[in-house]
Amino acid sequence: MQFQDIPGQSPVKTALIQASERNKMAHAQLFSSVEGGAGLALALAYSSHILCTNKAGGDSCGTCPSCLRVQKGIHPDVHYFFPKTSIKDSDYDKKLGGFIQSFRDFIQERPFGLLSDFALQAGYENKVLNISKEDSRRLIKTVSMKSVEGGAKIILIWMPEYFHPSAANAILKVLEEPPANTLFFLVTHTYESLMATITSRSLLFSIPPFSEEEVASYLQAKDLDGERASVFAKLAYGSIGEAEQLSSEADDLAYVEFRAWMLDCFNNKFADLTSRAEAFGKSDKLAQRSTLQFALNILRETLLTNEPRLTTRTGEEATFISNFGKRVSAENTQKMYEELNNAISNLERNANAKMAHFHLSSVFSEMFRK
Ligand SMILES: [Zn+2]
Repeated sequence: MQFQDIPGQSPVKTALIQASERNKMAHAQLFSSVEGGAGLALALAYSSHILCTNKAGGDSCGTCPSCLRVQKGIHPDVHYFFPKTSIKDSDYDKKLGGFIQSFRDFIQERPFGLLSDFALQAGYENKVLNISKEDSRRLIKTVSMKSVEGGAKIILIWMPEYFHPSAANAILKVLEEPPANTLFFLVTHTYESLMATITSRSLLFSIPPFSEEEVASYLQAKDLDGERASVFAKLAYGSIGEAEQLSSEADDLAYVEFRAWMLDCFNNKFADLTSRAEAFGKSDKLAQRSTLQFALNILRETLLTNEPRLTTRTGEEATFISNFGKRVSAENTQKMYEELNNAISNLERNANAKMAHFHLSSVFSEMFRK
């Protein structure tokens, strides 16, 4: 993560870079943003910048060995603390590696992700998360060690609001007596719930939410079409993580819908296909377009199933695509794809949506029968 990967946020970036260039960094810095905002990404980009051996133009280089290790989360002088499930004392050392690997994957894949995204990715879904007493012991131990490479040592704590009360003393102790050359980056999403022992000993950066345009362009750069990107950006109130989650939930829904539609076509359920076409005709233009666009994406990926690395789907969707590819010939899939493309352009020219949908269902049913 480099500063240039984070949309906007110039005032905070400038303040951070200047402090580092003048060697006037506060030993504890608190990045406060909405969840899914710029807080974590800024702390990561700042870590890269401080440890980069080839920085220029107010950013890390992104390519020196130090930058590459920070990017992968394996720099020996950057230490991570984050909410996780409790583990027994006796299992802590054995299981710690797995927890840290999950966090490394998370910061590379979802630098603006939400805690619930992390929990899902790490397999902690629906579990109680905290920064435990064992974590605080590790914190004290980490703080007491010398930096491995002789430069700064960075302790990055994501969501200190999750400190278990029994662990709170440790953070108080290390913030009160900070050893030389150790920097604490604390990233919070609920500043008001932090203990005064933390807030009174840290320099606060209040990071504003992203603008709607920034969120929308971020989603578009990740291949979401412009119209959908701006709808999710509007709903996400400046949180890229929230917008990403909304868009993936919408994809899940679209998938369930698409699968049900194909099943009705396959079984040639005339009455169901008629009511589907009616419901489609009554939905708004944006919803109509995104339903057909989703179907188009799935068919395109079906056509690519002999090139599995080109599909971006995982889990159930990937299985569906591979089964679909086995049952429907490439030639017919191609025809369905063309029909969908025609339907999308006809709708743009104000064709009757209900008729267009019913036509598609008939063509698809016919193809499944062959
Ligand atoms: Zn570098």
